[in-house]
Order: sequence, then structure tokens, then C-alpha cells
Amino acid sequence: MQFNSMSKSFDIVIVGSGIAGLSTLLYLSETDVFKRGKLSVCLIAKGSLNETNTNWAQGGIAAVNAIGDNFDKHIQDTLNAGAYKNNTAIVEKVVKAAPGLLNDLIQWGTHFDKNNIGQYDLAKEGGHSDARIWHKEDQTGKEIQDALLQNIYLLPNVHIFEHACVINVHQHPNQFFGTQVFEKNTKTISTIFSKKLVLATGGVGMLYDKTTNQQIATGDGIYLANQLGAVIENMSFIQFHPTGLFEKGQISFLISEALRGAGAVLRNEQGEAFMIKYDERKELAPRDIVSRAITSEIALQSKPYVYLDATQIETNILDTHFPSIKIACQHRVGLDIGKDFIPIVPVQHYSCGGVKVDEHGETTIAGLFAIGEIASTGLHGANRLASNSLLEAIAFAKFSIPKLLNQFDSYTLQATKAEIPLFKIVDRNKIQHLMQEYAGIVKSNKGLEDALKQLNEIKSNSEIEYVFNLVDFENTCLLEVAILLIKDALSQTANKGVFYNVDLV
Ligand SMILES: Cc1cc2nc3c(=O)[nH]c(=O)nc-3n(C[C@H](O)[C@H](O)[C@H](O)COP(=O)(O)OP(=O)(O)OC[C@H]3O[C@@H](n4cnc5c(N)ncnc54)[C@H](O)[C@@H]3O)c2cc1C
Repeated sequence: MQFNSMSKSFDIVIVGSGIAGLSTLLYLSETDVFKRGKLSVCLIAKGSLNETNTNWAQGGIAAVNAIGDNFDKHIQDTLNAGAYKNNTAIVEKVVKAAPGLLNDLIQWGTHFDKNNIGQYDLAKEGGHSDARIWHKEDQTGKEIQDALLQNIYLLPNVHIFEHACVINVHQHPNQFFGTQVFEKNTKTISTIFSKKLVLATGGVGMLYDKTTNQQIATGDGIYLANQLGAVIENMSFIQFHPTGLFEKGQISFLISEALRGAGAVLRNEQGEAFMIKYDERKELAPRDIVSRAITSEIALQSKPYVYLDATQIETNILDTHFPSIKIACQHRVGLDIGKDFIPIVPVQHYSCGGVKVDEHGETTIAGLFAIGEIASTGLHGANRLASNSLLEAIAFAKFSIPKLLNQFDSYTLQATKAEIPLFKIVDRNKIQHLMQEYAGIVKSNKGLEDALKQLNEIKSNSEIEYVFNLVDFENTCLLEVAILLIKDALSQTANKGVFYNVDLV
């Protein structure tokens, strides 16, 4: 392992190339100070730029536009899903900003589907009282990711580091940040100094045995912010997606909620449509209710999955609205979704909590921002309403700009020598099994206490790795984030939203 003696400095460093990181960069590029060439920005991603969860988002992004829909309805739906644990002022701010943010995405080149009379074809998803989901077939995330990337390649004064993983952050006494980056190709560690640091590192899906998240989702930003002393909250509000395709392997292909919106029905192994037993909204009840209903049905039958039946949806709708789901089911499990039932299980999907931020996306540490899935903004409360997360990411990217550009004159960057970070050798599989078993959809006090004990044992028994190794870094992040999550779960006093403990009411 070599240290790269070259250190670089920028006004702002953004870590992450999903919708949160890229849209923060694009909003910065629209400011006067950037256009005058007075702002230097660096964007870092640990994989290639499109290795993000954003790239895999299917259903779409929520914003009011349909006749008959209004802000109050979107606000109410968000609060209902979040079990009123949301920050109402933030919900109102984001929902009211949403149409303008959609317009920004369109200006940056995102195409959303239109109907045959040229109007935007808005879909309705679980928990929404109206059709307000803007989508591009079932690959909305890819459409957004591609459009944003096209724009950033054109920008001057922006340095992009791909395949470069942030492994450590120091905050210096006069408040600038020293960010240590491991460059995968050269296997060197260098330090990048900045006046402001934006963590847009996404979610924590790799904590679990089965997740819809990509391999990059190892909770790095939450680990780094926690190391710096930032407040982390609501980590136990993990949303499980009710319909992950049942197949071998950790990353589970997501069968979008929109398929249920189009009429697909959940059936148990006897072929019975069971959702009516659990909620009058049936398949379109919020995700936590649908996930728990599926878990209960699985416990009552012999098969470890239930079915999603899309056979009554017209073929042309399946072809035009759900092409990637159709192809994935064909290729991965050999099923024709127009004729066969799809085997599904609930899988880890989204982290509603994370690094606590204010209405500008700034954490409890001055100059440190957290944007996107990493953040706990107050929008989601105890459960995220479908398609509100892409919205939250771009909303806080925009809201962060005034504060990101604040007080630049008072800083002087000075290069300092950073210490070599050491990480422990941790078994990822053990963490994932513990989390799946004890911190899944249904929790108990004893299970959580056992899990915490075992996680602490893993931590104290692990050996220190003296040669830097990226896998050990990610596993250390997972271990520390798992401990934060279990402690948060043990601190809950009542069941709400996605959080369910059999020993609480
Ligand atoms: C299958 C799937 C479907 C979804 N569908 C929808 C949907 O329809 N609507 C909706 O609103 N939401 C949806 N979501 C959720 C939504 O996609 C995510 O919440 C959102 O894309 C997160 O964006 P982000 O920018 O915060 O993170 P990501 O898009 O995950 O990007 C994270 C970035 O951080 C980088 N990174 C992480 N750690 C480091 C490090 N240590 N050093 C350097 N870089 C690092 C990664 O390389 C990556 O570039 C879906 C999620 C999944 C997985």
C-alpha cells in the first residue's frame, strides 16, 4: 500500500454519483460563482459513475400534476405512510417544490412517458391517493442517471474520480475537511481537502441477506459521519419491499409496485388472494402493511414465498410499461409474467433514517452535508411513501445550495498529514445473517439484544488488518452501522410505520 503524496484541494467535495450527488453538482453549476469560474468541485464515486441504486429505480418520482390532485393530498399521503412521525414542515416544503424539481430534471434532458394525447402519463402507486408518479417505462432511475451524467461531462472546473473510495474523513480545527481516498486502480491513498463536504453515498442494503440494493450500498457515509460525531437517527426504520423476485443470490430483482398499481394480485400457495384479510386497500396498502401480510402468509404455508399474479393485465400494458420486469423474470427464473405467477418475498429496500440533517441538508457538523438516501431529513417519518426518495434526493440537493456556498472566505486550507486508517477483518455473511434473522420485518426484544451482543463480539474478536483492504473497510462500515441500527431499534418504545417489534404495541 502506498500513500500518494499528492494532495488536492477543492471548494466542495461531493461523494456519490447517484441522483443526490449528481443533482447537487448540477445545481452548483447553475450558480453565478460557478459560472464565473470561482468554484472548484470534485465528485468521487467508489465504482463507475453509474454503479448506483439510482440507476435501478423503477417505478418513478412523485410530484403533483394530475387534474384533481393537489399538494394537500400528496402531503397527507406522505404523513399517512410515515405514521405521522414526519417533520410536517419538511413534507410541505418538499411536496410543494416537487413540480419545479421535475421541471429541472426535464430541462436536464430526462424524458418521462407521455400518453397518446401528449400529456405526461402519471401512475398511481401504493399509499398514493392519486396518479402522480412520473416514470420512464420501468427504468425511470436509468433515464434520470443517464440524463444527469450527460450534463456533468460538459462542466468545466469539475474533477471526477471514479473507482475511488472515500475511507476516512478528518475535520480540521478551522473546519475544513481532509478526505482520504483509496484509488482502486493505483491502490494508493491520497487526501483531498475541501471547505465543504457532501456525503451522497446512498443506502445500507448490504446489511441484509436479501436486498434490492446494489453492491455499493454498504453504509459508508453513515459510518464516516458517525466517526466525525454527526448525529445519526432512526436507523431502525428500514423499509422492506414487499415484492422482490424469489431467486438465489443476495441482490434481489425488484418487481415494482407499479405492477400492483396496474392490477397484479398477491396470492398464497393455495392461489387465494389474501390482501383483503389484512387491509381494505389490498395490494395498494403501504409497503410495511403488505410486507407484514406476506410474512404472515409465508408462516402459514409450506413454500418460502408467495405469488404475484399479473396474468390479468393486458399484454400491451405489460410490454409497454413493464418491459424490464418481463425480461428479468424470463431470464432469471424462466417465467412469462403474462401467463405464470411470479414467486416473490419481501426484501430489504430502503433506509428511511440516517444522518440527521437540517432543511438545507447540513448535518449536525458545520460544513458536512448528507443528501439522498444517507440522510434523515424528516420527510419519510417512520415509513417512506413510494417514489418519494428520488424526490427527496433532488429536493435536498437544491435546498443545500445556499448553505453550501456560505462563508467561503473564512477558510484557509492547509495540507496536513493524515493517519493511515486501520480496519478490522469482519465476516460480512455473519452480519447479514444476524440482521436478517433479528432485525428484519418482525423483531423482538430478545432477538435484538442477542444480535447486539453477537455484533459486539464480532467487533471485539476481529483482528486489525494492517494492510489496507477495501473489503475490510466496507465490512467495518456494515458492522458499525448494524450496531447503530440495533441500538436504535432497542430504543424504540412503540411500533410505527416500518418498525415492528412483537414485544411493543
Ligand atoms: C431496485 C430499486 C428500485 C427503486 N425504485 C425507486 C423508485 O421507483 N422511486 C424512488 O423514489 N426510489 C426508488 N428507489 C430508491 C432510490 O433509487 C434511492 O433511494 C436513490 O436512488 C438513492 O440515491 P442516492 O444518490 O442517495 O444514492 P445512490 O444512487 O445509491 O448512489 C450512491 C453513490 O455513492 C457512492 N459511494 C458510496 N460509498 C462511497 C465511498 N465510500 N466512496 C466513494 N463513493 C461512495 C456510490 O459509488 C454511488 O455513486 C429504488 C431503489 C432500488 C434499489
